[in-house]
Amino acid sequence: MKNNDTKVCLTIAGLDPSGGAGIIADIKTFTSFKCFATSAVTSITFQNTAGVYGVENQSGKCVRGQLLPVLEDLDISALKTGMLPAKDVIVEAARIIEDFKLRNLVVDPVVRTTSGFDLIDDDALQSLIEKLFPISTIVTPNIPEAERISGMTVNNETDIVKAAGLIQSMGAKNVLIKGGHQRTIRQEKEYAVDFLFCGDQIETFEAEYIETTSTHGTGCTLSAAITALLAQQYELKEAVRIAKAFVTQAIKNAPDIGAGNSPIGIGSVFGIRTLIQNVGELFDER
Ligand code: PLP
Repeated sequence: MKNNDTKVCLTIAGLDPSGGAGIIADIKTFTSFKCFATSAVTSITFQNTAGVYGVENQSGKCVRGQLLPVLEDLDISALKTGMLPAKDVIVEAARIIEDFKLRNLVVDPVVRTTSGFDLIDDDALQSLIEKLFPISTIVTPNIPEAERISGMTVNNETDIVKAAGLIQSMGAKNVLIKGGHQRTIRQEKEYAVDFLFCGDQIETFEAEYIETTSTHGTGCTLSAAITALLAQQYELKEAVRIAKAFVTQAIKNAPDIGAGNSPIGIGSVFGIRTLIQNVGELFDER
């Protein structure tokens, strides 16, 4: 007999062969949250922890070709998009998401790697905004991404609120602006604060700021964790809260491999056992 409780998640994203970001990070995260992982590759990047050396972008036709058999066969409970490098890929992804009436879409508007490599051109970014923001459940930019999308500089909390309003006016119902690139100091302690804008409500999520260079893949992992939790019918705010706790643990459990910005600890290093120990009170394995 089939186990119909299994939640299937999908990631439409780029491949980082060094395993820290992109679809490999997404698959490890879906698996950590006990979801079944599926994926479509939008771009094969050539990278390691030190940087990105090139990309071989896939065509919209190729991405559609990957997605169709998966969607005709499996019931997808939630999905995320990561690196969508070109307009034709975005147009095909949006079309297929609408045709199959996929729900629980998390859009991680991947723009540039921490090492400074552009993963999307301006034309594609405009199409990402027009086609995917209106059908998303949530859009999850970090501060540099929020700046590029909104066209304004973000230096403080007032700017974050303004940028989120602009992003919402572009069609995104809910926006999570991740503050990891900016430290908030309170009573001599440093925090990384994320701001969730749900309609006209604002919720903040704080975690201690961890001084580290092991951050490769944090954005991918956070959006994948939100996806896995939405698949399990967690309410959006709760999903963001648990996902942030998961990423904080993954940063603390980073394996310290590679010469550059090393990956955070998910998968074999930070798997289900650690997840249950550290995030377990939050995640009740529905
Ligand atoms: N490579 C791919 C394929 C990605 O999707 C991303 C981010 O989403 C990155 C690299 C960036 O990784 P980071 O900025 O966390 O180093």
